[in-house]
Amino acid sequence: MTLPRDVDAVVIGAGPNGLVAANRLADAGWETLLLEAQPDVGGAVRSDRELHPDFVSDTFSAFYPMAAASRVIQGLHLEDYGLRWRHAPAVLGHPRGDGSWAMLHRDVDITASLLDDDHPGDGAAWRALVDQWQRIGPSLVDALVTPFPPLGPGLRAMIKLPGVGGLSFVRQLLAPASVALEGKFGGDAARLLLAGNALHADIALDGSGSGFLGLLLNMLGQTVGFPVPEGGAGKLSDAMRDRFVAQGGAVVCNAEVTKIIIAHGRAVGVRVHDQLVSVRRAVLADVAAEHLYGRLVGFDELPPRVRDKMAAFRRDPGTVKVDYALSAPVPWRTPPPYPPGTVHISDSYQELVTSFAQLSSGSIPDRPFLLMGQMTTADPTRSPAGTESLWAYTHVPQRVHDDAGGKLTGIWDADEAEQFADRMQNRIEQHAPGFSQRIIARRVLTPSELERRDANLIGGSINGGTAALDQQVIFRPIPGLGRANTPIRGLYLASAAAHPGGSVHGACGMNAARAALAAARLAPRRRPVNIPRSVGS
Ligand SMILES: Cc1cc2nc3c(=O)[nH]c(=O)nc-3n(C[C@H](O)[C@H](O)[C@H](O)COP(=O)(O)OP(=O)(O)OC[C@H]3O[C@@H](n4cnc5c(N)ncnc54)[C@H](O)[C@@H]3O)c2cc1C
Repeated sequence: MTLPRDVDAVVIGAGPNGLVAANRLADAGWETLLLEAQPDVGGAVRSDRELHPDFVSDTFSAFYPMAAASRVIQGLHLEDYGLRWRHAPAVLGHPRGDGSWAMLHRDVDITASLLDDDHPGDGAAWRALVDQWQRIGPSLVDALVTPFPPLGPGLRAMIKLPGVGGLSFVRQLLAPASVALEGKFGGDAARLLLAGNALHADIALDGSGSGFLGLLLNMLGQTVGFPVPEGGAGKLSDAMRDRFVAQGGAVVCNAEVTKIIIAHGRAVGVRVHDQLVSVRRAVLADVAAEHLYGRLVGFDELPPRVRDKMAAFRRDPGTVKVDYALSAPVPWRTPPPYPPGTVHISDSYQELVTSFAQLSSGSIPDRPFLLMGQMTTADPTRSPAGTESLWAYTHVPQRVHDDAGGKLTGIWDADEAEQFADRMQNRIEQHAPGFSQRIIARRVLTPSELERRDANLIGGSINGGTAALDQQVIFRPIPGLGRANTPIRGLYLASAAAHPGGSVHGACGMNAARAALAAARLAPRRRPVNIPRSVGS
């Protein structure tokens, strides 16, 4: 691998945010080099056939409602580069102890009718929520994927606010999931849908922000669905890579950047193994905040406040993910009325609260809340007809204090990984007797294994840092650095560690690229700095 000596910009990391950033810079005519540490592009949007050659497994993420709703991803027109979205018959299902299902279907009539079966009147309440969302939701999503303050989309949302209830609607958005829908629904199916989706991030159900997240994912599920790329998650990344290359960009994999070279307070290049690449314009880093500040750029090159504030930076919990190749679909005790792509497993709302509380106090949950993906149900190309490519994941504490369900310590060696995977599997078996007999192959990805496959997933965390409000928007990743800009000129944070955080929407990458382009408009293109080989080694 011989790297170019100098380019306009280097993007470090080819996760979805790095890919979006690289595309935007290439569109602007910048000579852009995308460097990726792993053998393939995609970051946490990749798929593989390790488990079984006939089965595609999404190694990390799988369902992309935010990508479908985000103008950033839509604007890339990835369908022109081979991307095809597929949908499961139903978006989401949550089996309950009595054999019934709480279900979200893309057809609002079906969702409403199922909710009415659960409790008469809940269907009308759901329709009212959807109606409200259709009026203001797209502006809210636009505001979310725009740098703060989101002037244009924010103004559009403000104009629509009186039509959806004004301050009462704002209050509903800010309310915890535990009270957000209070008085609106009589049955508990809607409550399970809201709470289960809220727990896709690490905000407690009685914490501010969880209500918005639950509403956002349910309403996206209702309006754009939870689509999956045909052929595997990696096809989304492949389409972004192919678009970038078609625009003249260069991608090099197996190229870990170990140092960002700084001269006179400006990023002037990067080191990869024993090679140096100079940049004329900018370095955009789709890397973990902890790796950018203190490792790729030493704390001695940064203002002292960065070290102090980074000491308070908090990760979101770790993850254990289990992938399955199944000889037949999951044998649900009571088959769902419509087969869902995403499945949530938790016996009740109370159990969701308990498992989150266990996580927060450092306990490995005894009855972990499972998020599952029936991938062949969503996309028949994932495995042979009549089989199912399935995954289930759950969260575990970053620092394990104890185990609420046994004697696991959190070292997650092979023995602990298999024991915990059995605990997760028992939860599925409870709702689907005979499940285990359908397993052809199983793979357990522990927190450290997830991190080995993508360095940004520190301790198996999936969102680039906690989604708690005190580390969001202007506080992300740290107070005072709430934009893509860093204290180093020409260096931008482009990963999910920046606003608006985790999920595949591409906004962190787009914000970084726009910031770099805006700064370049004010400054003439610099001659590349001739970096001595001894620098940054
Ligand atoms: C198990 C799991 C399930 C998830 N499920 C979903 C889901 O269903 N839907 C959804 O929308 N989101 C989901 N997410 C979250 C989503 O995948 C992430 O928020 C998103 O991938 C973040 O994108 P990113 O570009 O910021 O970082 P990443 O996707 O983590 O990519 C970062 C890239 O940078 C590379 N890199 C890091 N450091 C260096 C370096 N020094 N030199 C070179 N390269 C480097 C890494 O190898 C990696 O390829 C999930 C995440 C995980 C882990």
